[in-house]
Amino acid sequence: MGLQIHLVYDLQGWCCVSIITFVWLYNTLYVPKLILFPHYEEQHIPAAVIVLYYMVSLCCITSLVRASFADPGQLPQDPDIPYSAESGASWAEVKLECRAGQEERQLWEICNKCNKMRPKRSHHCSRCGHCVRKMDHHCPWINNCVGEDNHWLFLQLCFYTELLSFLTLLFNFCQYYYLEPLTKVKEELFVFRHELAMLRISTLMGIVMFGGMFGLFYGQLSNVIADMTTIERMSSNLDEMLKSSKPWQQTFSEVFGTRWKILWFIPFRQRQQLRVSYHHANHV
Ligand SMILES: [Zn+2]
Ligand SMILES: [Zn+2]
Repeated sequence: MGLQIHLVYDLQGWCCVSIITFVWLYNTLYVPKLILFPHYEEQHIPAAVIVLYYMVSLCCITSLVRASFADPGQLPQDPDIPYSAESGASWAEVKLECRAGQEERQLWEICNKCNKMRPKRSHHCSRCGHCVRKMDHHCPWINNCVGEDNHWLFLQLCFYTELLSFLTLLFNFCQYYYLEPLTKVKEELFVFRHELAMLRISTLMGIVMFGGMFGLFYGQLSNVIADMTTIERMSSNLDEMLKSSKPWQQTFSEVFGTRWKILWFIPFRQRQQLRVSYHHANHV
């Protein structure tokens, strides 16, 4: 599978992504430097704690980069490009099928903004200027739409941001209230002379990120379980929201493109759309 970069030219979005990247960079640099490495050198904590922090941090930035630059599910411009709908038919064939049969017609609709045929549950993003399959919402913090093809990366980003913020807050707390005081700190270094201020900034970032992501992550999870997008949830009543008949394992499999549950949490893989029935034999 080739590397495809999807760029949205939006200055506000780039500013938002820069802020998130700065928060990530600040904590990834200074929490280990000010807390983890000095305490490891004085044998207050095991090396595994440092490895854990860097692994969560790596997963966090990987899912951010991938969610930002992945194609969220833009509809093809070229009519000859095979469209990956359930039928596996080409774009032209799909249009013919739409004309031919009432049943097929019900699966497709015309976008009244770009005047193209699109599968139902697609939505036209005015910020990106095109339709996105199973669009969830446009997120300025990743400067991209969240749609069928990158929703799984967005969920991973929410999860790892929540986890990294939690670890940051935990280590900041332990630095002052739990761990033994450091005795071999190089006081002449700038970061150690301003340690209190730097860790207060880190704590503030941790509180904002943890609090902000908490509601978002919970909302995203309940949407996936209910097999609904954020746009659909906002335009539906409660009865419609609760009508999903699919088991939560199936809705998660469809979003993450795997039935191997451990792989749901790994952002270093390619997502494969699941086409076969949920009850067929497992594969990645
Ligand atoms: Zn459209
Ligand atoms: Zn968009």
